[in-house]
Amino acid sequence: MAIFSFKQARLQDFYASVFRISSMRFENEDTFRKLSRSNKESIFYKKYSDAIEDIKPQFGRKYPLLIDGKDVMPGNSFKHTSPLDTRIILGYFPSGSLKDVKYAITSASKMFEIWRKIDYQERLKIFASAVKSIVAKKFELSAWITFESGKNRFEAMSDVDEAIDFMRYYSSEMVSNKGFVADTKSARPSERSKSVMKPYGVWGIISPFNFPAALTIGMCAGALVTGNTVVLKPASDTPIVGYLFTKIMMKAGLPGGVLNFITGSGNIVGNAIVQSRMIAGIAFTGSKVVGDMISDESNKLKSRLVIAELGGKNPVVVTANANLDNAVEGIIQGAFGYSGQKCSATSRAYVHKDVKQDFTKRLILRTNKLLVGNPVNSKTFMGPLINSTAYSNYQKYSRIASRYGKVLAGGKIKRDGDLKNGFFVEPMIVEGLPHDNLLLKEELFVPILCIVEYDKFDEALEQCNKSEYGLTAGIYTDNKQEIETFLQDIQAGVVYVNRTSGATTGAMVGCQSFGGWKASGTTGKGTGGSYYLSQFLQEQSQTIVVKRSEQRKKKH
Ligand code: NAD
Repeated sequence: MAIFSFKQARLQDFYASVFRISSMRFENEDTFRKLSRSNKESIFYKKYSDAIEDIKPQFGRKYPLLIDGKDVMPGNSFKHTSPLDTRIILGYFPSGSLKDVKYAITSASKMFEIWRKIDYQERLKIFASAVKSIVAKKFELSAWITFESGKNRFEAMSDVDEAIDFMRYYSSEMVSNKGFVADTKSARPSERSKSVMKPYGVWGIISPFNFPAALTIGMCAGALVTGNTVVLKPASDTPIVGYLFTKIMMKAGLPGGVLNFITGSGNIVGNAIVQSRMIAGIAFTGSKVVGDMISDESNKLKSRLVIAELGGKNPVVVTANANLDNAVEGIIQGAFGYSGQKCSATSRAYVHKDVKQDFTKRLILRTNKLLVGNPVNSKTFMGPLINSTAYSNYQKYSRIASRYGKVLAGGKIKRDGDLKNGFFVEPMIVEGLPHDNLLLKEELFVPILCIVEYDKFDEALEQCNKSEYGLTAGIYTDNKQEIETFLQDIQAGVVYVNRTSGATTGAMVGCQSFGGWKASGTTGKGTGGSYYLSQFLQEQSQTIVVKRSEQRKKKH
């Protein structure tokens, strides 16, 4: 294992160049916006198109598990197809077995004894090298994301950018917290005390399909940079980026067995990770139903930690004092970006009765102009849904919407031309549903926005909060009092006022820490924020009694 020599004098330069921090200021990757600001959009389009062509010859290959630094090829595998055209076979991934899970956990457990003792600055060097590779491969990774998740090119790149941000931000957090070691007050003249935050052990990281780079890499980064080891299980709909990330980390110098990559069904591989007594903690992002099950199972095991980031039913309020153009733009982005498949997707819009007609008219006009199609195409706004289950859910919800409310836009699947081979649907708007309708209560995870008219501001706020979820929320108003009341009373972990880039979506690492209240999360501490890393650490208070001679030396 490479142990690097580290010259203190060059530390600041090193951190500044690699983690993009100066005086602890962290800078987001933000690829498209930065190129766009300097009129270099054509570079983005060209590099993305080239990357699409570059990855095509790799379609259909067989992928191994990565355990203890080695390729492991079990007998059974599953076919990984693209949601934009199910005739495209992206690859074959192993259906991991209980034996594979055990091997991965044992390797991670063995390596914990080494990894936990490595100075955090050494860990940061490996992170820095990995970040460099991810940046160099970001168009390639984005191209894979488009094919495996159906994200358009801008959303795919944002996913990778966010992953890079997580790696850099958590690294910068380690630096600014000096590795989470701090001298404390001495209780007696003869004592020297300090607080040392130490890793727990092996973490099971279980990620969802919708942010294959950001969430998979973000959770792994949190666990690894703090000295824990990892068994990673990505979603079966989007496993490629997790594989590529593990390879990048290994190439960057991460010792074999510190990060183990294992694919297979949630019920077998995921469940075996959850049931193992050798797993110290689970970092999970996914649905409430699976997250609750993981929390329940973990509660049966003493001292098992769970960081669970779960679903949302995110509301937005459009008051009579709103700028309607801004509201329409922000709500379109929030409700229909990545086909409504973000945990932060805007799903309920409470609109004041005086502006509802005007707002709705503009929203429908804009919605009907959104381009649904192949996400590889640069003009596409909405790509496909992730799989056949989401596709049938959309059709089921559409029938409920027509039966109990009034459908104002969309509602149909799209099967024209090549789209018939993927899971394409229209963005849909429905109004007039009773408050207790399923579409207003449950997380749908498809592009459906429910509009509800309101009269009194307090009633709108009450309806926003009348949900088991509390992830994100937004408001459009120019009235200061309404903004103040909203910010004071809304029950959500991430809130936005008058945002056109997304009514309830689009948090940036280091700027808007991201975590849910109520049933949307278990810890109350957001990813990409300053409280996140400490969740992977346990405090040890260390006191050493010093000899009299040393006490005297200290005094002089
Ligand atoms: P999911 O819950 O179906 O799956 C998530 C992961 O859990 C997958 O890797 C899956 O294989 C695994 N899994 C399934 N059954 C399991 C079991 N019995 N034991 C252990 N693991 C199991 O979620 P999804 O459909 O992939 O993702 C969408 C969900 O994720 C939505 O609810 C969304 O709101 C949520 N999400 C939340 C956030 C957040 O930050 N709060 C971010 C993204 C997505």
